[in-house]
Amino acid sequence: MTDKLVFASQLEPHTHLMPDVRQNRISSLQMSTLQIVYHPHPALRWKSKDVTRIDAQLKDWVGQMFDLMYEANGIGLAANQVALPYRLFVINPTGDPNEKEMEQVFINPQIVKRNGSEEGEEGCLSLPEIYGPVTRAERITVEAFDLSGRDFAMDLNGMPARVVQHENDHLDGVMFTDRVSDEALKALMPLVDDLAVQLRRQQSEGTLASDKELKKQLQQLQDERTGG
Ligand SMILES: [Zn+2]
Repeated sequence: MTDKLVFASQLEPHTHLMPDVRQNRISSLQMSTLQIVYHPHPALRWKSKDVTRIDAQLKDWVGQMFDLMYEANGIGLAANQVALPYRLFVINPTGDPNEKEMEQVFINPQIVKRNGSEEGEEGCLSLPEIYGPVTRAERITVEAFDLSGRDFAMDLNGMPARVVQHENDHLDGVMFTDRVSDEALKALMPLVDDLAVQLRRQQSEGTLASDKELKKQLQQLQDERTGG
């Protein structure tokens, strides 16, 4: 990997809890609390860019992502799913918050090797209660940076390999429903459509911003820490 990461956690004293008066435009966008977003939120179709900086804000977001993942009984969560347009995801294949040693953060991940093929049932925290069969590589090698800015490589198979491929897809704006057979998708569509109806209702009631506004926010967040 040739990407360089600036590791700045000690250098940037401000956190999202303290509004930065010097940068009003930016601090207004720094969300204090992340939430999982649901289909068809535009963040789920955003092709995210590599992070160029790991700082206190990013670390706080990662902590929140683990909390949200456990709360929803998930085993993986990608930044796109909390409306952050960055190439990063978290996993814990056990889904057990007590098994901290199984937690792994993947920043700017790249799947560099894929072998074999295996079908398995998948679900997604952004498509609650919806499950379908997806064919994935059986074994992968993934390279990424961890939260301390160190690069690592992992050979994975079984469930962890599937989770990493699913989460990595999110960073490209790809949902697992894009990878199920036409026949399986047909069966899932009524549930997927229900979610869309709910989201559009929130938008018309004003409890969720319009797609246009959400995309503007994603673009600003992207500009802040990906180098454009
Ligand atoms: Zn997902």
